[in-house]
Amino acid sequence: MLTGRFAPSPSAPLHLGNLRTALLAWAAARSRGGRFLIRIEDLTTSAGDERTAAVAADQLADLAAVGITHDGEVVRQSERRHLYDAAIARLVDAGLTYPCYCTRREIRDAAVAPHGPDPDGAYPATCRHLSATARHALERDGRRPALRLRADGARVTVTDEMVGTLSVVVDDLVLRRADGEVAYNLAVVVDDADQGVTQVVRGDDLWETTPRQVLLQQLLDLPTPEYLHVPLVLAADGRRLSKRDGAVTLADRTELGEDVAEVVGMLAGSAGLAEPGERLDAATVADRFALPRLVRDPWVFRDGRAARA
Ligand code: GLU
Repeated sequence: MLTGRFAPSPSAPLHLGNLRTALLAWAAARSRGGRFLIRIEDLTTSAGDERTAAVAADQLADLAAVGITHDGEVVRQSERRHLYDAAIARLVDAGLTYPCYCTRREIRDAAVAPHGPDPDGAYPATCRHLSATARHALERDGRRPALRLRADGARVTVTDEMVGTLSVVVDDLVLRRADGEVAYNLAVVVDDADQGVTQVVRGDDLWETTPRQVLLQQLLDLPTPEYLHVPLVLAADGRRLSKRDGAVTLADRTELGEDVAEVVGMLAGSAGLAEPGERLDAATVADRFALPRLVRDPWVFRDGRAARA
């Protein structure tokens, strides 16, 4: 059965851009009678601390308020580490990994012309051929390694209904960070497959990393979902939307006197699914959802009204 999902990281309250992506993901799945899941991606946000728990609770409350219903329990990545460990163990056993001692700075300095899917420049594979002696020397110096995938120059082609096709050589991506935490690309691939996700709708800032996820799916014998990367919301000066840009959360909008139907109408309108000023509920957005209608450019958020402090 078609299964979509929204997977927020509980690092900050959801802003209108996040809510818009969630609404589109939900509408894409529901418009085709699909299931919809919510997953809290709390691996790198000090999972378990009080602030993270509070942010996650607020995110879930906002999603519910907007009408984004979900099937099954909300899952949290911090409770699923055994699944990621098992997948990493499979790759290790298959000889597809190696320890990498490089610091971010060393990688930046060594990177040749920017290429590959990493916005920071693809990893130049410096540590791929380290001898055992060199590894021991680095460990003696107190360096803790990250674990990288031996991608071996694999070329991956990904297709997305919104963005098009991307064909790139995938770099030796990180599976486990030097601090022991599982990397995003590995966790997301394991979770999407384990949860039976068949449709991934998310912000197009993640498009460039999608070939890495597809390579991991191939190496772990997991299915590749259908992808739909939707444009981000930008501030008037072209930066990604952030808290500084005025009334950008549901709570901010409510404080300005707007109700949820107005906010949903604004989000849907920005995506081409509503008329200016129209008030809507999420179910109507799902009824109207159709790929050809979707606006393909970023939504530039020009409402400068600040939330009351
Ligand atoms: N947790 C990621 C984020 O909040 C989204 C991951 C995904 O949708 O694959 O940006």
